[in-house]
Amino acid sequence: MQTLKKPVWIKAKIPAGPEYLRLRGIVKRYRLHTVCEEALCPNLGECWGGGTATIMLMGDICTRGCRFCAVKTGHPGGIIEDDEPERVARAVKEMGIRFVVLTSVCRDDLPDGGASHFASTVRAIKRQDPNILVETLIPDFNGSREAIAKVVEARPDVIAHNVETVPRLTPQIRDRRASFEQSLTVLKIVKELDPTIYTKSSIMLGLGETDEEVLYTLRRLREAGVDIVTLGQYLRPTLNHIPVHEYVHPSVFEYYRKEAERMGFLYVASGPLVRSSYRAGEFFLEMLIRHGR
Ligand code: SF4
Repeated sequence: MQTLKKPVWIKAKIPAGPEYLRLRGIVKRYRLHTVCEEALCPNLGECWGGGTATIMLMGDICTRGCRFCAVKTGHPGGIIEDDEPERVARAVKEMGIRFVVLTSVCRDDLPDGGASHFASTVRAIKRQDPNILVETLIPDFNGSREAIAKVVEARPDVIAHNVETVPRLTPQIRDRRASFEQSLTVLKIVKELDPTIYTKSSIMLGLGETDEEVLYTLRRLREAGVDIVTLGQYLRPTLNHIPVHEYVHPSVFEYYRKEAERMGFLYVASGPLVRSSYRAGEFFLEMLIRHGR
């Protein structure tokens, strides 16, 4: 398949500037990993420049291998750094950010998939400053209700889990241990356990999905009680990853944004450079979480 030429609307900002350097210094000093760097995110410059970063817990080696993802795949051997929650909390304080996104690689090598480590990190941050908003972008924990409950009980403000693509393309794009229905179940369980927590999911476009499939996926997310959805263009990290099928025009993203709002999502971010945690602390979202629906 011939490599498509990137259109004018796909432009990444080169990370630079005092705020970016300050955050990078803190991340290094506290020995943290960020998705921004590991996944080669095109928005790194904008997000860090704006004082938000997405911290990746539990190392940078994933037990899974999704064909769109730049994160390293391997066997972390059940190793976990017990002091990481405190390190993250201290780093977040020093960063001075009001909204932090915590995510992780998949850790199928851990009994609870790392759920208790997520929970400890949320608690450490909230202990330090209960006004900091925390979003946890969790793996599927193999659909384990018990594991999901551990994260819910730590009461993050937003729990996100990405379906990534439409049902038909899921087996080609995501690791074989993931499925569209399992991901939907994860989001439903969160709402069953605590309806006051906002749920969120994300869809990548440009992988060969049709309009009907995207609208169907949005409807299924709404039926699962999902409040927030983001839609962004898939960008190929390296030639070893699945090729881009299409660069979706910004007007199409705009169409999906309107359709999703019509379906009743509380917040929709839709655009070529939108990522699941893109400017996650966007003003509207922050106001929604702080002051309710
Ligand atoms: S589960 Fe898939 S998307 Fe998530 S970090 Fe691992 S390889 Fe990447």
